[in-house]
Amino acid sequence: MKRILFAVSELYPVIKTGGLADAAAGLTRSLRALGLDVLPVIPAYTAVLDALTEIEEVARLQVAGCLRPRQARVLRAVCADLDSPVLLVEIEDLFARAGNPYQGPDGHDWWDNGERFGLFAKVVTEIAMDRIGMGWKAQLVHCHDWQTGLIPALLSRETRPPRTLFTIHNLSYLGLFPRSLFDQLGLPADWWHYEKLEFYGYLSFLKAGILFADQVTTVSPSYAEEICRPENGYGLHGLLEQRRSQGQLQGILNGMDTSVWNPESDSLIPCRYSVKRGRVAGKKHNKEALLERFAASAELVDTPLCGFIGRLVEQKGIDLILDAIPQMIASSKAAFVLVGTGMAHYEAALRKLAADFPQRVFVHIGYDESLAHLIEAGCDLFLMPSRFEPCGLNQLYSLAYGTLPVVHGTGGLKDTVVDATPAQVSAKEATGFVFTPADTPSLVHALHRGLALYQRPRSWQTVQKTAMEQDFSWGGSAKAYRELYRR
Ligand code: ADP
Repeated sequence: MKRILFAVSELYPVIKTGGLADAAAGLTRSLRALGLDVLPVIPAYTAVLDALTEIEEVARLQVAGCLRPRQARVLRAVCADLDSPVLLVEIEDLFARAGNPYQGPDGHDWWDNGERFGLFAKVVTEIAMDRIGMGWKAQLVHCHDWQTGLIPALLSRETRPPRTLFTIHNLSYLGLFPRSLFDQLGLPADWWHYEKLEFYGYLSFLKAGILFADQVTTVSPSYAEEICRPENGYGLHGLLEQRRSQGQLQGILNGMDTSVWNPESDSLIPCRYSVKRGRVAGKKHNKEALLERFAASAELVDTPLCGFIGRLVEQKGIDLILDAIPQMIASSKAAFVLVGTGMAHYEAALRKLAADFPQRVFVHIGYDESLAHLIEAGCDLFLMPSRFEPCGLNQLYSLAYGTLPVVHGTGGLKDTVVDATPAQVSAKEATGFVFTPADTPSLVHALHRGLALYQRPRSWQTVQKTAMEQDFSWGGSAKAYRELYRR
């Protein structure tokens, strides 16, 4: 399998709302480096058209939309950062909008997401079957998350279709739409069945991908097991377990992009460092810059600083952090830097916490890539108490930057962080602090363990060194995908 069409709804650095964009980009780059002809295809959102130059038209086509035909164009651009051409699906009325890929400026999902990604799937099917005259027929279509779930289903109806692989980056987004969308998209009537696309009275795009793809993967081995259980399976555990028992579901850990996240070459931090050179001094300079960025007291440079970066949603355990911080302020010297956007009540609670503890808690509400790099470089500990975490990227960045992660033992967090038990510290295997269950007392306890280790510089530096020496680059994961494509 050489010609891989890579269908995804976001791709770094062109358009990103979260880890999916990073994963899609990292995998594209690494698979191309292995000699595969990987061609990403994404919707032509306004932000994408603004970010890319030299865009050429490949084809024009008409697709059956909801209640009316839609004019679509397939465009091609070169994305220099990815060293790859990228195909864009343009349907002006659906994708040329301000806001992010899934939500309008008011923070609500676009009312017509079902039609938007339903038609994206139809156009991708035309591209995959080479019916747009590109002279490039995909041998395999690799789809990602619910936005692309209809593609394996639509391809299953074709004669001699490419093989399909569906990767679940987050099972909790089921891509649910009403029955009316099913009818308006003109899907085969016999697919409205609980053993097909129907899911408790709704159409589920995610279920379509899981059911129809030749193979299914998810982004860590532990998450692949967890989603087969009722408590984590969002009602799809039966189907997932069935695919797993037939050898058609496996977990392949995501990698991280070491050209973007590398303390030795990071252009977004004031002082570069590596495990070999200037680690202790380097981190201290970055910590000073981070404190300065928040106009915090320079004296805090000797205080353990705990960071958080992420979407402010329940999944990330932000409520546990909000509960734990006042307790930590009362019982330790730790200070906190948090950056994120998300649900309004969490944003308000974080702002209040910063106002309540202006000397010890620093908050930025917003999406800020360079601040994220500075936090990874300048903090001592990194908080990631996610209730579930398919893979997670920030803990990998934290390991690489020597910022010891404090994580809930779930999914990809469990697969990548080794707890600093005395035995594992002595064995030079420990890389962070793992706690369970996902509740405030366990988080507080793990943080205290972190602070205790921080008081023992030699042990701290041993753990930090082990963390920084871990290799979570895309190389190994890309090879695992190549192997799967071969099969
Ligand atoms: P998820 O995909 O569930 O959001 P991940 O840990 O896999 O979580 O990836 C999150 C990515 O998005 C990381 O690259 C992280 O640095 C970035 N990120 C999330 N929120 C912010 C923010 N407010 N500012 C900067 N980067 C952010």
